[in-house]
Amino acid sequence: MGNLDVLKKRFNPRRFYRDETTGTEIEVDGAFVRIDPSLESQRGKEVIEIPLEDLLQDPAVIRSARVSTGRDTKDINEKAGRLIEKLYSGHHETPFEGGVTLRLKVITPICYAEPFFQLPLSHNERSLRYSAYNFETEHFFIPPVYRAKQWIVPVYEEGERESQKLYQFFLSQGVSREQARFALLFRFFTEFYWTVSLRHLLEILSWEPNVLTPAAFWSIRDNLIAQIIKDWTPWTADVVFEKPRLTPTNFGLSHSSEIIEAMLETLKKQAQKEDVVSIGSIWFLPVCGNDEILKLGVLTNPNPRRGFGHASMTFLLNIPIFVYRQWVRHRYGAWSALPTNFDEVVHHRDFYLPLSWRRQLGGAMDYNYEEVEPELSSKLRLMFFNFVEGCCRRYRRLRQFGVPPQDAALNLPYVFRVKRLWTANVESLMNFFSLRCDKQAQWEIRQFAHAIYPRFRKSFPWVNEIFLRYLNFGKSSIFR
Ligand SMILES: Cc1cc2nc3c(=O)[nH]c(=O)nc-3n(C[C@H](O)[C@H](O)[C@H](O)COP(=O)(O)OP(=O)(O)OC[C@H]3O[C@@H](n4cnc5c(N)ncnc54)[C@H](O)[C@@H]3O)c2cc1C
Repeated sequence: MGNLDVLKKRFNPRRFYRDETTGTEIEVDGAFVRIDPSLESQRGKEVIEIPLEDLLQDPAVIRSARVSTGRDTKDINEKAGRLIEKLYSGHHETPFEGGVTLRLKVITPICYAEPFFQLPLSHNERSLRYSAYNFETEHFFIPPVYRAKQWIVPVYEEGERESQKLYQFFLSQGVSREQARFALLFRFFTEFYWTVSLRHLLEILSWEPNVLTPAAFWSIRDNLIAQIIKDWTPWTADVVFEKPRLTPTNFGLSHSSEIIEAMLETLKKQAQKEDVVSIGSIWFLPVCGNDEILKLGVLTNPNPRRGFGHASMTFLLNIPIFVYRQWVRHRYGAWSALPTNFDEVVHHRDFYLPLSWRRQLGGAMDYNYEEVEPELSSKLRLMFFNFVEGCCRRYRRLRQFGVPPQDAALNLPYVFRVKRLWTANVESLMNFFSLRCDKQAQWEIRQFAHAIYPRFRKSFPWVNEIFLRYLNFGKSSIFR
């Protein structure tokens, strides 16, 4: 049997993968397919046939590599398998990046989704701003390890009932979906498309586990992502699993909360703090670069805007989790998710409690919001306050039963605050203002964009002129 026939037999275009311990499902929704010239003659047919050879993914790595030697051939001969090994061991990794891209549909509890949004390449997530959580078909996640513990399950279930009741009451009163979701527990299911290359998956596979990342992430990686690689790219898997690579991710730092607090205090001394209404706070750290660097920077091609990358601003943020999850989508920059001490969150009641509640009017991509009547607003505020108090009580009960903070926290509402470090270059900031000062952005994240913009304008007056004249594509009155 030739090399290609062996590969055809091992290739397994499986769609569904499930990890029970984390309640996570990944579907392989799409993959690159080689377009054979014969496809043209199939134009207009109901079913277009794609030869198996063109669906195989490993040969795409080989073709991507061969082009560099001028041999753009799709021949899969005896040498082909060995080429993959040479590429990998020689760290020539771009063929794995350009050759194979998968679109994965991930369904996972919200508490485990966060690390995925720090990974390349592209994400599109279901937004609970445009559709409601459907309790008839969707539930909350309970980690399997607690399902047999009769004294713990009722606490999880009670939280679930309270959350569902309040969420549905909010919706019945016409409260916007973006605010109703504050009543969801930090274990509702989210789903998103994640488009990622094989090269990036291999890098993720090589990372040394670290305690900063939830254990669930490593479980999803080792049980699902590894299997997807074995099924979809068996030749690459042979190489990768035979000689696993370990990329260090632990740098000898202590992660104790006292030490992190002390480091934060030092940082805050160099920063200017601004509270953003009752939502959260920003510490502005020293700005890097100025207009003069950027005037030189933009003398580049083909996209002079990239030159705005030579200056940046850094922020220490204390923001509600739902704001962070919108904000983190601005990938062009650096994010650090500082560990959350949930005992402290509960002790200090570090939750965002909205002062007013909004109705959502109009249709998708063109929503308008108006405040609900003052009487209803007071009632909703009190109900939400009581709900948060109930969540804190349940958190404490679980802690007394010995449940670790990260699992007890699954019972907190989707409004606890987190600390994040964000560095964004000037190009990315202009994109952020265009999108997040706009009235289509959720009110809460908009307040942060509004707080940052005046300092940006002051630090980069020339860039600000360029931004307003040529680059701003939002519709905010803040810029007028
Ligand atoms: C009103 C509103 C509603 C939204 N609704 C949803 C929703 O329902 N679901 C959802 O999933 N998201 C939603 N989003 C998020 C949105 O899809 C974007 O993810 C987010 O606004 C970040 O924008 P960006 O991609 O332009 O930013 P960035 O990621 O910062 O990209 C800015 C630029 O950087 C470049 N770039 C730099 N690095 C990369 C990289 N690694 N990959 C690709 N490009 C890169 C790109 O060329 C791009 O032009 C919404 C956003 C807004 C403002």
